Amino acid sequence: MHLRYSYRLYPTAGQRQALARTFGCARVVYNDALAARKQARKDGLPYPRSADLQKLVITGAKRTAERAWLASVGVDPLIQSLRDLDTAYRNFFDSVSGKRAGRQVGLPRFKSKRDNRQSLRFTRNGFRIRGNGKLNLAKIGDVRVKWSRALPADPSSVTVVLDPSGRYHASFVVDVEPQHLAPLDTEVGIDLGLTTYAVLSDGTVIDNPRFLRKAEKKLKAAQRALSRKARGSKNRAKARRKVAKAHAKVADTRMDWAQKQTTRIIRETQAVYLEDLNVRGLARTRLAKSVHDAGWSTFRRLLEEKAARYGRHVGIIGRYEPTSQVCSTCGVLDGPKPLSVRTWTCGACGTCHDRDLNAARNILAAGRADRLNACGGPVRPGVAIPRRAHPVETGTHRNADRTGRKPRAAGAAGIPVL
Ligand SMILES: [Zn+2]
Repeated sequence: MHLRYSYRLYPTAGQRQALARTFGCARVVYNDALAARKQARKDGLPYPRSADLQKLVITGAKRTAERAWLASVGVDPLIQSLRDLDTAYRNFFDSVSGKRAGRQVGLPRFKSKRDNRQSLRFTRNGFRIRGNGKLNLAKIGDVRVKWSRALPADPSSVTVVLDPSGRYHASFVVDVEPQHLAPLDTEVGIDLGLTTYAVLSDGTVIDNPRFLRKAEKKLKAAQRALSRKARGSKNRAKARRKVAKAHAKVADTRMDWAQKQTTRIIRETQAVYLEDLNVRGLARTRLAKSVHDAGWSTFRRLLEEKAARYGRHVGIIGRYEPTSQVCSTCGVLDGPKPLSVRTWTCGACGTCHDRDLNAARNILAAGRADRLNACGGPVRPGVAIPRRAHPVETGTHRNADRTGRKPRAAGAAGIPVL
């Protein structure tokens, strides 16, 4: 299975310049290829093949006066940039034809110099890890790496990323064998909430860290400072960097926290069941800020990735299960409860329920039932399907609000009846 390992890079001033030039060239190649495809479509010509595009926007372009500078950077990241465009188109076509699940992917868009995040990918021919621990990138040089943990195997590619706060990272794709842990007989249902981050069916409560809310004050001050700076000024650029840094700090802390929580859950349990909350649906309601803060989709993704790696099972139960309305003791549907109701007593059997714990128990029961159905027999230790490492550039996610489509009705968007 493919995993990503990310490390901080410390390029010298000269290397930063070389990287900036390569970011620019890769962007131009991408945009030229996209323009050529759009033009071909307009002219009613067949969709240009990748090999022909490569000749047109890289090999051929280098010989022209306007694009001669393409020769000053390594060719590998330029070719990878074209591959990214291919992937973006494939994702778009698969999304249109329904082959690709999940939210709709839009047509690839032109990249801009002002994009927040710049990236380059090097394949095996384009990079090498030196004996002294430096990362050699073709036509960039030997870049200092902070090896925060060991790489488990030879990487097949590396993506160099410049984030908006000005940090460089190298993200290696490594092919590793799954390391299945000794099977356990523990299973747990998880109810993700807003008052507490999550409640597990065994009674464990994971408190909401609310990193964003806490850091918000600092962020707001930075944003106010940014808004006062004159457009295009150096001070504005500095202030923008400060805002980006404040954001990055929150994101890093949150990710670190999520990694620790999910590792613990995967180590201690054989099967984890979650509700498919359709975070996108919820995020459009007034709960938006809390939902984004909670980072539920990251939490789920980490659980799924770790389950695949360590031989555990993650089951997602249908989004219409009324998990907060059913009594987990006797199974009676007790009717909807407003969010403010934290505890309730079942009208049929008289059990007093904590709202979230009851939901977690129902999720566990529903997940078990799903799994039994799927296996057609006794529950075996789960073997999840390993996911491919996320490609860094995969085209444009269409934002439903931007396309002018009406937000879907509450039920259809999968907002659970609370
Ligand atoms: Zn009951």
